[in-house]
Amino acid sequence: MTNPDDDRWDIDEVDLPALDEDWPSRPALGLGPAQAAALAHAIEEGVAERGCDGTLRAARNWALRAGTNWTELQKRLCERGGYCDCEVLLNALEPD
Ligand SMILES: [Zn+2]
Repeated sequence: MTNPDDDRWDIDEVDLPALDEDWPSRPALGLGPAQAAALAHAIEEGVAERGCDGTLRAARNWALRAGTNWTELQKRLCERGGYCDCEVLLNALEPD
């Protein structure tokens, strides 16, 4: 006898990307080398001073000072794995 509830397990058929596929190339940061270095420096100082509070506070402060479009930069940082100041240093600012 077939149980009609079995149908809900069809979720297995959802197309997941194969694990051995190359990672998609990361979006460009949209900053020149000098700006990226200045951002890294600002974050290092902010984190050294107050520690990382799990936000992008130091990155945001820098972007506002530098006149950079913060909304756009924040999106790129997150896409590159930088969800807080220390992760930006660890992930987002790493060269590709
Ligand atoms: Zn952090």
